[in-house]
Amino acid sequence: MDRISINKISQVIQRGATRPLHELADVAGISIDSRTTQVNDLFFAIQGQRLDGHLFVNQALARGAAACVVKRGEVTDPGSQVLLEVEDVNHALLQFARWYREQQAAQVIGVTGSVGKTTTRSMIYTALSSSLSGVQSPANFNNEFGVPLSIAGIETSHQFAVLELAASHVGEIRELAEVVKPQMGVITGIGHSHLAHFGTLQQTAETKGALFEQLPAAGLAVVCGDDSFADYLASRTIARTVRVGLAENNDLQAVSIEQDQQGLSFRVNCQQYLLPVVGRHFINAALAAIAVAREWGISESDVSESLRNYSTVPGRCHRTQIGDWTVIDDTYNASPDSMRAACQVLRDYAGTGKRIMVMGDMLELGPETEHYHREMGTLVSESGVDLLFVCGGQAESVAQGARSAGMSENQITTAADVELLAQDVTDHLEPGDVVLVKGSRGMRMERLMLHLQQIV
Ligand code: ATP
Ligand code: MG
Repeated sequence: MDRISINKISQVIQRGATRPLHELADVAGISIDSRTTQVNDLFFAIQGQRLDGHLFVNQALARGAAACVVKRGEVTDPGSQVLLEVEDVNHALLQFARWYREQQAAQVIGVTGSVGKTTTRSMIYTALSSSLSGVQSPANFNNEFGVPLSIAGIETSHQFAVLELAASHVGEIRELAEVVKPQMGVITGIGHSHLAHFGTLQQTAETKGALFEQLPAAGLAVVCGDDSFADYLASRTIARTVRVGLAENNDLQAVSIEQDQQGLSFRVNCQQYLLPVVGRHFINAALAAIAVAREWGISESDVSESLRNYSTVPGRCHRTQIGDWTVIDDTYNASPDSMRAACQVLRDYAGTGKRIMVMGDMLELGPETEHYHREMGTLVSESGVDLLFVCGGQAESVAQGARSAGMSENQITTAADVELLAQDVTDHLEPGDVVLVKGSRGMRMERLMLHLQQIV
């Protein structure tokens, strides 16, 4: 972050300093977590669902915070003018981010969608960063706290920032998009994530479409043309729209797609691409990156060269070798759309060993939960999976779906929790096998990965 005086910050979030603050150090960063606050950070005492940041103000100061933003009257001033009092700290954080973003010349690329935001923003960053200086959202910082923290990572020297914006409830993208003020926007697709909160796919599309509304006429909107909401999303923007996907009517179409042990290869126009990944679903992320890079005038061969060095984000179809087994770590999260993509990964897998799926519940799916789990069981069976290990409250629904599509009883193991499956999985593993591990965040399927790492 660029350095800013406390006086300036006070003007932005308190609408004018109430007392002279000039003897305080300039702010060098922002923080909402006192465990990681650094010297000269501005600490925002956020009131979250579980914890109240006001309890950690002293810890933040002890770690060297330049000042703390607190709710008026909530904390007694330690006497050294280090408290900036506001009515609503969460709002002040967004207010600060909005102002800070306006100071920056960097062009912002906003990425939203039901699935694949992190994958797409990391792909865009890879495509741009060998030619331009820029920054991307750290980790999965994509909500009303994460977006301001990501914005604070932009500096005067940056030409671009690629930022992820997420919503799990109706309407949540609008305010974030107003703060981010993107010149380019990517909507990865409209799918079945958080359906329990959104209700319908139309409501999901309406929420995500708010990103495109913020784009200027000279901006760029990238949408997956294969998505049934593509026309609707394109109608939400005055920016030029580029459709990407596999179908012929897209502006950027990937053809000659092949997946082998080396990676995923495809062609766009006359340019050949090779991504060192497993999973056809990476294509749309790559196409979005190609569209954005083209807008910056980066040559297709340079983009192709950069994408050859793409590194998957841990937990997102991240291929690793543990002992003699290939393990695909897809433990970060699961929804029907990403579960379908995972089944396709195993279907395409060209190794000689067994294909093994270790799967936990997909959460937040609302009244159709059982139906989706049964459907995934069927898909697992149709994908040629040799062994299915499934845990969670929906394990039996998945197993039923798999049985109905032809898997036999001795190919399926169910359990309440992943830890109860771990021993069974390792008993069945042989050198050369491939294991894909996936489930919703709340299922903490990474515990299986830890188990495998411990036994080799
Ligand atoms: P979140 O909303 O939690 O931030 P996200 O939108 O950032 O998620 P990713 O973290 O990129 O999404 O991916 C989530 C899961 O979906 C991973 O398992 C990943 O492998 C898978 N995935 C990524 N892109 C796609 C896609 N286009 N289609 C289906 N699955 C995908
Ligand atoms: Mg993400």
